Amino acid sequence: MDKLTVDDLDIDRQRVLMRVDFNVPLADGEVADDTRIRAALPTIQSILDRGGRLVLMSHLGRPKGQRVPDLSLEPCARTLQTLLHQPVTFVDDCIGPAARASAELLNPGEVLLLENLRYYEEETDNDPAFAAQLAALGDVYVNDAFGTAHRAHASTEGVTHHMAQCAAGYLLMKEIAYLGRVIDAPSKPFVAVLGGAKISGKIDVIAHLMDKVDHILIGGGMAYTFFKAMGYAIGTSLLEEDRIEMARDLLKKAHGKILLPVDNLVADHIDIKGGTIGALQTTPVDAIPEGWCGVDIGPQTLQRFGDVLRTARTVVWNGPMGIFELPASAEGTFALAKLMADITDGGAITVIGGGDSARAVGDAGVADRVSHVSTGGGASLEMLEGKKLPGVAALTDK
Ligand code: AMP
Repeated sequence: MDKLTVDDLDIDRQRVLMRVDFNVPLADGEVADDTRIRAALPTIQSILDRGGRLVLMSHLGRPKGQRVPDLSLEPCARTLQTLLHQPVTFVDDCIGPAARASAELLNPGEVLLLENLRYYEEETDNDPAFAAQLAALGDVYVNDAFGTAHRAHASTEGVTHHMAQCAAGYLLMKEIAYLGRVIDAPSKPFVAVLGGAKISGKIDVIAHLMDKVDHILIGGGMAYTFFKAMGYAIGTSLLEEDRIEMARDLLKKAHGKILLPVDNLVADHIDIKGGTIGALQTTPVDAIPEGWCGVDIGPQTLQRFGDVLRTARTVVWNGPMGIFELPASAEGTFALAKLMADITDGGAITVIGGGDSARAVGDAGVADRVSHVSTGGGASLEMLEGKKLPGVAALTDK
């Protein structure tokens, strides 16, 4: 890595201001899933073991500049305390006299968690004065929040202008190592699997990966705009009218690299929010009955995708193959997740690009059988689009 890392810093007795991603789901005032907090533990533990005085900051949800009590980070302090087996001080502000005093009082090996950064809209506005107030809480800066590294906010970018040494934490390093390797030096054959609702969200990924990959497998709702472009009737399946032309163009440029489903599961009615789905049948993709909606890839598609994936040495996956929130249309996505685990056992490098795909490998029980599950959906997509992440670019060069 061409940036300073936490290993390069002299930590002993220093106040280390560290951006983490504790944007966790809460239920009844407690942390409902502590995955993201656990993901930051290696860096936290290393800093504490080396005698650092650790000041942690994060956002949680979207309070939009308001003090929303339900979005307080206090429950995260309790969870962190349990995970670390040591006290964690919590202060109910992220700037100002109380935050400054608490940071000053820290002894080596002690940890403080600040209140939600987004209680101030200056955080997302990347306000320089706000960033300077955050910077005053530390002697050195560490960013371990991959999930927000694609945003130039005060705690990820602005703050770095006020500190001499800004370094990457272990989680950030690991994410960049895996995603960077996939993009820059993949072992071949290299296959990308893309799904999810819309082409519009993944156009730049397809364009950037087109020359690097051997195959792009496309499933999920985005496939139907391609089918429309090919002249098929798609019933009531998801369609982005304004992207049909673009889909046609991508197919032309792909010279056969894009593989679309050959069959799909269709429903005569679906209500995702209400959790209901009507009658189901499997049809070839060029025979979707009028009024029916494509909700998942079919068995023949899975077979074909599997044949390609079993030959791959590197695979990156982003986006579900169907409406996996409903069990009746989750089979394709979960089967793909299991396939990812199997090919990893066979020696392939498999990288799951955050968001829904990360949830799917978790729900399928195979998260620890793939090479890497990214903690940042948006950030990993931007890396796959070939963009530089502002939160990484802002760190001190080695
Ligand atoms: P994205 O955020 O673009 O990756 O999209 C994820 C969403 O795509 C999930 O909520 C899925 O339910 C949805 N999705 C996947 N396949 C389909 C489909 N065939 N029709 C409608 N939505 C879908």
